[in-house]
Amino acid sequence: MEFKQGDWIRIEKKGAVFEGQVMPSMEEYITIKMKSGYNAGFSMNSVQITLLESKEKNANRSIKGCEECKKTREKLPWPEKKLHKVAILSTGGTIASKIDYRTGAVTSQFTADDILAAIPELREIADFKGKVISSILSENMNSESWQNLAHVVVEEIHTGADGVIITHGTDTMMYTAAALSFMIETPVPIVLVGSQRSADRPSSDNSMNAICAALVAISDIAEVSVVMHGTTSDDFCEIHRGTKVRKMHSSRRDAFKSINSLPIGVVDYNTREIKTFIDYTKRGEKPLKFKPGMEPKCALVKFIPGADPAVLNFYIENGYKGLVLEGTGLGHVSTTWIPLIRKATYAKIPVVITSQCLSGRICDRVYDTGYDMIKAGAIEGEDTLPETSLVKLMWVLGQTNDFDKVVSMLREDISGEITESTQK
Ligand code: ASP
Repeated sequence: MEFKQGDWIRIEKKGAVFEGQVMPSMEEYITIKMKSGYNAGFSMNSVQITLLESKEKNANRSIKGCEECKKTREKLPWPEKKLHKVAILSTGGTIASKIDYRTGAVTSQFTADDILAAIPELREIADFKGKVISSILSENMNSESWQNLAHVVVEEIHTGADGVIITHGTDTMMYTAAALSFMIETPVPIVLVGSQRSADRPSSDNSMNAICAALVAISDIAEVSVVMHGTTSDDFCEIHRGTKVRKMHSSRRDAFKSINSLPIGVVDYNTREIKTFIDYTKRGEKPLKFKPGMEPKCALVKFIPGADPAVLNFYIENGYKGLVLEGTGLGHVSTTWIPLIRKATYAKIPVVITSQCLSGRICDRVYDTGYDMIKAGAIEGEDTLPETSLVKLMWVLGQTNDFDKVVSMLREDISGEITESTQK
């Protein structure tokens, strides 16, 4: 039987019938994408195949019942067609991924243009210009990647972008968001967006997340934000401040939460309206300012009961320039670690204390341990998330070598990472 990728075929196997579009398949096997959006693979020897429509004729056939959803979307009010210029920078991650039929694993393969082609609604919102920065999963990013990305973002804003969208893997999105928040003071929205489920899965969140991100990119929220599903339904996305956000679930579509803060706001997917909950920097309020520089030799160390203080000694003896500790409760480590905090501080290695509770504020002025930690030189991270504290420390050490200045910058709120009174 002659058929090729893209043809619409019927497969009969032991009385069961399956219809779908031929996907890239391995020798002796055939994979089809069915109308439901699910893929199914068959051994060629065990099935009967009938060609229903050739690739050319099949081009308009809908997968995932999308004709229906397109119709619904057509009725929705779009923002007035002013068509802002939005740069869409693709770094990789699930939002740029599809199944690799060779290995069966998800790999980053889509470019920004592919994303635009796959989600035509985006073109109704803004004029886009796409650029591929990288095609990596975000676990492979590092402080150099953040800086390269920041350079491109700044270049895009300089050359006239009214907003920037960065498509990014979700696993480390909060690190990149924090890094951009510290490095760039922005007059326009810089929006990070990802997806928890790849485009070829029926429950993919990529299209709704991308549409909400585009709406934020043309809004007046001139901050670095993360825009992702707010619930497990397709109702709204939350807009999280780049320094207050964390991935809190490994697989749910609403994995991202603002911690110690309300989200900046929400985007209603049905009405396309944005509602805000807290103060934010407005479009054009601040001129563009770029402050690159990151010290990579910093560590985030989680304290656990009974942990050997030699753990801290390792970092001190191995040339680390700064440490963030994830302490217990209000921000504690065992008394055996305190001499090591003193040793680090004497060596002009700043030690910031955060809490493994994540929610709440550090207060090392309640228990003896805390007092002793402060006396030894520990710097309270207030209500900053541990990962944000680490990125801030890397950035501060990339700005100055003056230890007193480092300490005072660490105590200061630079990009919304410390709130005066915790709002949530
Ligand atoms: N491991 C992937 C990444 O962070 C997961 C994702 O994109 O959601 O790149």
